Amino acid sequence: MVDEFDLSHLWHPYTSMLNPLPTYKVKKATGVMIELEDGRQLIDGMSSWWCAIHGYNHPQLNQAVSDQLQHMSHIMFGGLTHDPAIELGKALLKITPPQLDKIFYADSGSVAVEVALKMAVQYWTAQNKKDKTSFITTRSGYHGDTWNAMSVCDPVTGMHQVFGSSLPSRYFVPAPQTRFDEDWNPADILVLAETLKNHHATIAAMIIEPIVQGAGGMRFYHPEYLREAKRLCDQYQVLMIFDEIATGFGRTGKLFAWEHAQVEPDIMCIGKALTGGYMTLSATLTTRHVAEVISSGEAGVFMHGPTFMANPLACAVALKSTELLLSQDWQSNIQRIEQILKHYLHRLDDQAHIQDVRVLGAIGVVELKQNVDMKTLQQRFVERGVWIRPFGKLVYVMPPFVISDVELTELLTQLVSVVMELAEEMR
Ligand code: PMP
Repeated sequence: MVDEFDLSHLWHPYTSMLNPLPTYKVKKATGVMIELEDGRQLIDGMSSWWCAIHGYNHPQLNQAVSDQLQHMSHIMFGGLTHDPAIELGKALLKITPPQLDKIFYADSGSVAVEVALKMAVQYWTAQNKKDKTSFITTRSGYHGDTWNAMSVCDPVTGMHQVFGSSLPSRYFVPAPQTRFDEDWNPADILVLAETLKNHHATIAAMIIEPIVQGAGGMRFYHPEYLREAKRLCDQYQVLMIFDEIATGFGRTGKLFAWEHAQVEPDIMCIGKALTGGYMTLSATLTTRHVAEVISSGEAGVFMHGPTFMANPLACAVALKSTELLLSQDWQSNIQRIEQILKHYLHRLDDQAHIQDVRVLGAIGVVELKQNVDMKTLQQRFVERGVWIRPFGKLVYVMPPFVISDVELTELLTQLVSVVMELAEEMR
């Protein structure tokens, strides 16, 4: 079952080459089913890390890729343009915060974050505020694995100790403590207020994942935090970057998570589900004002331009994926998934080995009191016909939106059963 070449030569995410975690070879994936090489079928609980919202091998998305292939798979974006980029841009401006007006297409989520951070620095340099080059963020955040994106990830879970002083140092404030559905506690914003007051002269921007902190801990926080944070950023002349790479395209029950708070950022990053999980594409959007200031600065241009910028195949499938989402009653569908997630996962509420159970939109999280053994747990899930990849203390699901009631029930029944088994082992 184990592929020897893969084991010996292919590096998988966050994996040792001396003691690699086992990998399962996939033959194909259709809808919410992942078929392994040995014929086993797994119900997908991960949407390939938030991406595959319409499931795999979707006829309309396949068609969009194949239609675009007849024209061109790629063409440079320097000096040339094309309909997939233009039509996707029009669609994105209709669904993102109204004040966002300019779109920079990039290759991946991390690059979109790099682009956002660079935009913020260029915005201030263009105004001769050359000390405003640092960033502020909350703990428990995650923004990607490239250098500057990593510098604003949670310093403990985000690998800072591995890279030490090679990482630029940033301002960190505590993660928002008031939960999404609790009464707002104004004390939650005090450290941010104090830090901005003391250091705003050197801070270009605040970066934050709105409402849901994803890979940094799967935490859901109160919308008032975003409103207060934006107010403070405006007061202290600090730009606000929303990283909606994980939260975008309906996952939290709103099309984008900023809508929970109704507060608009100066810069916003999107990615992951943008192409329905078909291929890598991201975008960084900003306001006319930010773009004009950058463009009227000494450099006169924004200093970024990846080779595969606005890749036509990716833009074509992203446009189709967005249209597909908007053509459905996606809100009711997310509510359906949310109800089922709550119904099953809250059965674990009173278990002694469970710290917390939380559900928002199509995201269900079980936080244990101790770290889980990812390898063993993943193996157990596979044996039971579901694909769930836990990390740290978290066992969580964010299934494709096309999952049926029956499939979701099966996925959660297996999740609950495996987590219950851990009660004995963790005693
Ligand atoms: N920001 C957030 C909020 C993310 O969840 C991720 C990916 N998990 C990234 C940025 C980085 O995206 P990518 O892996 O596509 O570089």
